Amino acid sequence: MAETNINHHCIVCGTGYHACDTCQEIKGIAPWRAYTDTVEHYKIFSVLQDYNGKKISAEDAKTKLDNCDITGWESFKESSASLIRKILATETKKVAKTTKTTKKSKKAENDDEK
Ligand SMILES: [Zn+2]
Repeated sequence: MAETNINHHCIVCGTGYHACDTCQEIKGIAPWRAYTDTVEHYKIFSVLQDYNGKKISAEDAKTKLDNCDITGWESFKESSASLIRKILATETKKVAKTTKTTKKSKKAENDDEK
């Protein structure tokens, strides 16, 4: 049972996990393994990073977090949890964003991709 070869700790939730160092060199397969235990946490991490670096607003961060699985965030590492708490406390002004996209047909958008 001593196979808990923990050599990493998730920078979001603090959970210890094992990430194969050989695999890590093969970037592209799962580069997030170097930072977090799950890909969901990596998504959260990038949101927190962007928010912390003021690349995105708290509202944007909140929207993005809505799309992540933040289950159990209250027991994440304090640094992450406090940021998430701050973001979640943000009032999102539900300004009905004028749907400019309605003019553009979805088909046209798809055709845009080269
Ligand atoms: Zn984690």
